[in-house]
Amino acid sequence: MRALPADALAALRAAGVELVTDGALLERFGHDETEGFRFPPAAAALPASTAQIQATLRVASRHRIPVAPRGAGTGLSGGALPVAGGLVLGLERMNRIRGLDRRNATIDVEAGVTVAAVDAAANEAGLFYPPDPASRESCQIGGNIAEDSAGPRSCKYGTTRRFVLGLEAVLADGSLLRTGGANRKDVAGYNLTQLLVGSEGTLAVVAAATLRLLPVPRERLTLVLPFPALESAASAVEEIFATGNEPAACEILDHAALAAVGGTLELPPALAGAGAALFLELDGEDPDALLRGAERIAAVAERCDGGEVLVAQDPADQRRLWRIRRGVAEAVKHRSVYKEADTVVPRARLADLVRAAHDVAAAHGLEAACYGHAADGNLHVNLLRGALPPDEWEARRDAAELDLFERVVALGGSVTGEHGVGWTQRRFLPLVASGASLRVQRALKAAFDPAGILNPGKVFTDEADG
Ligand SMILES: Cc1cc2nc3c(=O)[nH]c(=O)nc-3n(C[C@H](O)[C@H](O)[C@H](O)COP(=O)(O)OP(=O)(O)OC[C@H]3O[C@@H](n4cnc5c(N)ncnc54)[C@H](O)[C@@H]3O)c2cc1C
Repeated sequence: MRALPADALAALRAAGVELVTDGALLERFGHDETEGFRFPPAAAALPASTAQIQATLRVASRHRIPVAPRGAGTGLSGGALPVAGGLVLGLERMNRIRGLDRRNATIDVEAGVTVAAVDAAANEAGLFYPPDPASRESCQIGGNIAEDSAGPRSCKYGTTRRFVLGLEAVLADGSLLRTGGANRKDVAGYNLTQLLVGSEGTLAVVAAATLRLLPVPRERLTLVLPFPALESAASAVEEIFATGNEPAACEILDHAALAAVGGTLELPPALAGAGAALFLELDGEDPDALLRGAERIAAVAERCDGGEVLVAQDPADQRRLWRIRRGVAEAVKHRSVYKEADTVVPRARLADLVRAAHDVAAAHGLEAACYGHAADGNLHVNLLRGALPPDEWEARRDAAELDLFERVVALGGSVTGEHGVGWTQRRFLPLVASGASLRVQRALKAAFDPAGILNPGKVFTDEADG
């Protein structure tokens, strides 16, 4: 790993930026939650203010040092990996809640605040922050903005971008960019706020954000619906929405995912032998309306061969059931070496996607465990290595993944629903982005970061895209 110039390190220290340069202490900045990748940086800078982020980027820009912005490192597409070496810019010390405005129902937070902490602060004011990725206890709001992250409640409330009203961001040359603000409407100029959402740390570093909050729904109801097979669960999803229901969350787990989480948590008997399950949340003001909704959904389940529906009204019972859904990702990943494909299709094609996932896995002699956000047509297809030798696994995995994404795109879908393109999905981007689209995206990158120091190696492959 090429060391950083001594005068760059001295300039960072002079600006008061905390630096990590010791090899052992740097280890944690060289990986995220994406498979087994390891890319140790030359150093990590941990600024504690927007001014220190600016100072860091000014120094990096002057010395042409690659900079990988990093939140909590829970990313699943390798976005925070310092693949070009250089500097990791960690936001963990930017963890202050600057203020909550009850009258406007907004909150101002620094990028390193965890999503759970944003929601907890909102709850104290009778409000809530809906985006709820399973990693919400650890992942940071800056990381969620960079990935436009989602969670079960995106079904009703939408993804992170719906809640970002304004940003304080720093460009690659160190200049400060303020976008949007607390206004609910603002069409002055291009919408740079929304351009930065989902830009994966390649256009600017998010230092702070103004987020929209909602009143906490008074009532919630959790339903768990077991099914004999994944296809019947996917058909039920289509019918639930086609019959006018609007759950807050609608999640799907296949047999292999249930078996994996069953190895770490106790499952209710109705789920133990199920071929698949749906986890739903209904929310609103009127408890009777929620119960009527639950009855309608139970009737759909029955028509789709579903088993006995579990209904939880008590918050402790609800939490117990949702722990099963939230524990799936970790449980699957501990079962075997895996490759996760973050597939997404229009919701009405979910049953086709489910079939395609299992067909592709079988055609390549691999096991698959699938789960995800059914309401968004977003299925995480985990291809499992099992007992295969490494070479054979890698060859089958790569061929199966390409096959799968080609099938997904043929269904009108895309190559990542919420985990981002990052480092691992770059080869698939041209399957969904035309030459014209890639040209515009590269031009935007060049406008924001002409020297190409910000998160190099991400989103685009090195080849010209035509
Ligand atoms: C167990 C588990 C469950 C998960 N569940 C979900 C889920 O339900 N839904 C979902 O969408 N994702 C999920 N994820 C993925 C991950 O948590 C999200 O992508 C999350 O937004 C990453 O946040 P982070 O703070 O860890 O960012 P990191 O992983 O550190 O970085 C992610 C990307 O954001 C960039 N970045 C980080 N901070 C900034 C910043 N301040 N400014 C500019 N760029 C920045 C990085 O460069 C990188 O490209 C899960 C991950 C795990 C491990």
